[in-house]
Amino acid sequence: MFKIAVAGTGYVGLVAGVCFAEMGHQVICVDIDENKVKLMKSGMSPIYETGLEEMMQKNYSAGRIDYSTDYNSAYKDADVIFIGVGTPEQPDGSANLAYIATVARQIAESVEKDCLVVVKSTVPVGTNDKVEQFINDFLVNDVRVEVASNPEFLAQGSAVHDTLYAERVIIGTESKWAEERLMKIYEPFHLPTVSVNRRSAEMIKYASNDFLALKISYMNDIANLCELVGADIQDVARGMSFDDRIGSKFLNAGIGFGGSCFPKDTKALEYIAKQNGYELKTVKAAIDVNKEQKTMLYKKASKRLITFNGLKVAVLGLTFKPGTDDLREAASLENVPLLLDQGADIYAFDPIGAANFSNVYPQGQYGQGRITYVDSAEEALKDANVCFIFTEWGEVKAVTADAYKELMRTPLVFDGRNIYKVEEMKDAGVEYHSIGRPPATRESVKESKKLVSEVIGS
Ligand code: NAD
Repeated sequence: MFKIAVAGTGYVGLVAGVCFAEMGHQVICVDIDENKVKLMKSGMSPIYETGLEEMMQKNYSAGRIDYSTDYNSAYKDADVIFIGVGTPEQPDGSANLAYIATVARQIAESVEKDCLVVVKSTVPVGTNDKVEQFINDFLVNDVRVEVASNPEFLAQGSAVHDTLYAERVIIGTESKWAEERLMKIYEPFHLPTVSVNRRSAEMIKYASNDFLALKISYMNDIANLCELVGADIQDVARGMSFDDRIGSKFLNAGIGFGGSCFPKDTKALEYIAKQNGYELKTVKAAIDVNKEQKTMLYKKASKRLITFNGLKVAVLGLTFKPGTDDLREAASLENVPLLLDQGADIYAFDPIGAANFSNVYPQGQYGQGRITYVDSAEEALKDANVCFIFTEWGEVKAVTADAYKELMRTPLVFDGRNIYKVEEMKDAGVEYHSIGRPPATRESVKESKKLVSEVIGS
């Protein structure tokens, strides 16, 4: 078993650290955020992930994991140091490597024995070469330090499961020593492992994420066309899914992808291509479609209603997807300010993300608009004039079609996640607009076609 240090205790670093401890390694997780470290030492997780807190407590009690802000003590005698700090998007679309550089410098100043540094963060191709050079340039002690790439593929909301039962582990190394050490660390997980060189490993991460983003944007593009020609995207997706070459996953149309990865990783790869004199047309298309899609529902609703001013608007779901408290690039963050600007009286419900959202938009008045946070979907829907569904939480899916009819003043629903069958909403007497499907209204498909063509044309 190895002595492992992990830099950064976000979704990637903390989950990796806890899972390494679960497999019997000795782990120390480092973060610069003292509050986070205090919280973790008290057995609480700073992020919401199913099963994470229980596993933190179990391994902390067993003495296999600890948390610290003292990077020097954590790094000096580590066999392996994983880097899981953020690489956020910069205004030009490139990845900000400042956090990686800081950790690299801290490692160079601290390590007192031979050590493998493993970059888990998503970084542009060639970054690992630079990190290795950087560390060796600043190395204080006469020790061997090599850098390996081990990109992370977990999805927020199922991060622990995705780590323990990963579909593959990608190992990018430039020496047998580094490859063997990294293989040994992952041995107890018994997972399929792909060993390649560092640059290929870095590219596998971007190519995988951007392919998934492309798949989502493709389905959203087709969904918009479905509305124009009177087809149903869910039936289309079902028909497509039987083809093994296409697969059945990531075929759901909606209001676009969000989160901390797809938006920034598409832009970063487009930037890398540009820097190399190449235009990555497919990825650019995925980005463009997504930008339009994020406000598709709002635009549809704006065409349907004269105004939002003075209307009670129920907003169901704020996070970028269910199972997480993360709001990064969530559709709600694009749509709520538009609604507030238009004077909407918003009643928002999210089972986990409301606290984070209220840090950005505290409950209260915004010009003529207002936002109030409530504890249930039913409370949000009571007497509402219109409802927007942004996240398909179980608590939202549990609301029956009849409940919209019974609770709302005017049962008018704009669903960005295609939760309901159009027929059931129609039967319940709810006017229902979703993505890529005919609406449930008194209107004919022809009228809906008009609505969509106005939105797309605007
Ligand atoms: P995050 O923002 O949730 O966490 C980063 C953490 O690093 C923060 O807690 C921050 O305080 C800490 N930090 C910053 N500087 C530090 C330093 N010098 N030493 C120690 N800690 C430091 O980030 P995340 O979502 O976990 O993502 C991390 C990386 O992994 C990114 O490159 C991201 O693209 C990639 N990734 C993320 C996901 C995901 O689902 N979130 C999935 C795969 C890959």
